[in-house]
Amino acid sequence: MNQTIRPLLVAVVMIAAMLLVAGCAAPASVTPAANAPGAATEEAHSEDHDDDPGHSEDHAQDTEHDHDHAVEMSALPALTPVALSDGEKLRVVVTTNIVGDVVSQVAGDAVELVQLLPIGADPHTYQARPDDLRHLNNAHVIFINGLHLEETMQSVLDNLDAGAPVISVNIGVPTLQFGGDHADEHEAATDQDHHHEGADPHTWMNVHNVEIWVDNIAAALSALDPMHADRYAANANAYRIQLERLHEEIETMTATIPVERRKLVTDHDNLSYLANAYGFTVVGTVIPSISTLASPSARDLAALQRQIEQEGIRAIFVGTTVNPAVAARIASDTGAQVVPIYTASLSDAQGPAPTYIDLMRHTVQQIVEALAD
Ligand SMILES: [Zn+2]
Repeated sequence: MNQTIRPLLVAVVMIAAMLLVAGCAAPASVTPAANAPGAATEEAHSEDHDDDPGHSEDHAQDTEHDHDHAVEMSALPALTPVALSDGEKLRVVVTTNIVGDVVSQVAGDAVELVQLLPIGADPHTYQARPDDLRHLNNAHVIFINGLHLEETMQSVLDNLDAGAPVISVNIGVPTLQFGGDHADEHEAATDQDHHHEGADPHTWMNVHNVEIWVDNIAAALSALDPMHADRYAANANAYRIQLERLHEEIETMTATIPVERRKLVTDHDNLSYLANAYGFTVVGTVIPSISTLASPSARDLAALQRQIEQEGIRAIFVGTTVNPAVAARIASDTGAQVVPIYTASLSDAQGPAPTYIDLMRHTVQQIVEALAD
């Protein structure tokens, strides 16, 4: 008897230990963002959940422990080179025009790039058009922001015929969790806001995160199109240097704002990465959500108005992709001013933010002008 029970016990202990290890390893790969870079990764996730009944508990605990920082999927999906005929270029489709600019900085003219979201489109609410479907189904690779930014396109991205890899540029980016620093907004949130909690998708507002995008894009392009790997690597290196300069420039610019005035009120929660990286606090948002699909209650707006008055807030920063009407009303009631900024879309070529670097520089300039004096 003893001889049969003992190996059984050993096996049980070993399995328990393995489950424990799996649980500890979970936070790196399991985040609320289910925008898997490829179907394979998504399958792996759902298998984890199905097979392990204790998993959801582990997950809840882990989320509590590091609700300030979680990491989006940890690695690129396995990519195999695309068989391109003579003169044929890799066909790359991107969702947002910010992702599009960064991809084009790395790819140069080595690829055929199609960008789906036009200038001024709100990525939270954008719906794919028939032309978009054609491009998506014709692509060799699709780069998205991910983290549910493109939430109204998710079903289209999940159901493509051609099966091109869909890659989030945010793989490996340390994400901020919405709700962590907003306890009182959290309380006021209604049920319909709940699905908008989780990883904040506006990662590009910290330049260092876009340096990680560059690594991901260069790695994916090189794997799919190894003939041009040297060019992708050289472009990525040159662009990383520009980004590092931009990061330092932003630090210098924001240093001119007195510390007690580094308080931001925005249209929705889209500046947390900027705040975290460059020393600001987001004290309020018109829409208490990381998505513009949510809407504020009368109670939310009254609370925001009180906060603006109490903290002596002078500016409400409103992205160009958002209807500024509610912000304008609060501004006129409180004596604050509405300051337009570029956050979710570039401007056209004649505007102040035709590239990602211009977008960051212009938005920070607007913030500095509004708050510095
Ligand atoms: Zn947004």
